[in-house]
Amino acid sequence: MPATLRPAPRLAIVVPCYNEEEVFAYCQQELGALLYTMVQDHMVQPDSFLLFVDDGSRDTTWEQIKAACETETCVQGLKLSRNEGHQSALLAGLAAAAPQAEAIVSIDADLQDDIQTIRRMVERYRAGYDVVYGVRECRQTDTWFKRTSAEGFYRLMAAMGVKQVFNHADFRLLSQRALTELLRYTERNAYIRGLVPLVGFPSTEVAYARGLRTAGESKYPLSKMLALAVEGITSMTITPLRLIATLGLCICLFSVTATLYVLVRKFSGNTVEGWPSIILSIFFMGGVQMLSLGIIGEYVGKIYLEAKQRPRFHVESFLKLSTKQK
Ligand code: UDP
Ligand code: MG
Repeated sequence: MPATLRPAPRLAIVVPCYNEEEVFAYCQQELGALLYTMVQDHMVQPDSFLLFVDDGSRDTTWEQIKAACETETCVQGLKLSRNEGHQSALLAGLAAAAPQAEAIVSIDADLQDDIQTIRRMVERYRAGYDVVYGVRECRQTDTWFKRTSAEGFYRLMAAMGVKQVFNHADFRLLSQRALTELLRYTERNAYIRGLVPLVGFPSTEVAYARGLRTAGESKYPLSKMLALAVEGITSMTITPLRLIATLGLCICLFSVTATLYVLVRKFSGNTVEGWPSIILSIFFMGGVQMLSLGIIGEYVGKIYLEAKQRPRFHVESFLKLSTKQK
């Protein structure tokens, strides 16, 4: 790392919001105060800003963002025309912030992630790092199920050779150049936390304790969590396809051996025993084939979705600082 510090950056904090009317005011106030003190401490430039992305909320979130944009000089708002999901909303915000900031932090609206960590992230950025991952050092505030399933998922991904930072979600700082590279990944269903390590550049981690949601409910029910996990696996690795091939090979070898055994038994005068083994193997093979087809189908579906090259999100309005100052 270079001995001299990078100059204080123009910082953007990008916050995706979906039906977050209960937490928005608090979130804006806390992040605004943090930004103010960081400007006072000359850690970031005075024109640093917060960028709230409304991911097609059906409550008053956008009205609140709009009002904040009118009263606060450091707030920008981006409205997507419909709910695109957390990852796409975050990408939309990052893409809007990239040309305007040297360092870009992403954080959830519920402020479960300790916002003081952003100061440490900026320090690391100034020390020369391009990617600073926020890593949860304890997950006591998450439910037992969320902790266990997340742990299992990280292990599964690691076993399949996907580089991923343990206990890191989408709370991170990216330098402008790292973000510009990240935005070159144009896949429709981006799994951002899997893509960031692929970008490279000097990276580091900062640990923090994760709190409880300030208000409202999780916008990640089990179905969305599972969808994200499938997305993560199928967009980052083809190991499941290889496992299917390996399993197929093993079953072939086994059946050749079993056939030989049966032939030897037959010619040595012993009759081959009954139907349960036949029925069981038919069921077993049927199950294996259906599962394999399902997994292959996931990948084929993915090719289908990618081939269409549809836009990842639609911006309905963008309340940017420069447009307000006119
Ligand atoms: N979110 C979003 N679009 C969605 C779902 C969630 O923009 O379709 C946002 C949400 O407003 C929050 C972040 O993604 O800022 C993470 O969601 P949440 O805190 O509910 O997830 P959890 O912490 O429970 O995993
Ligand atoms: Mg949360």
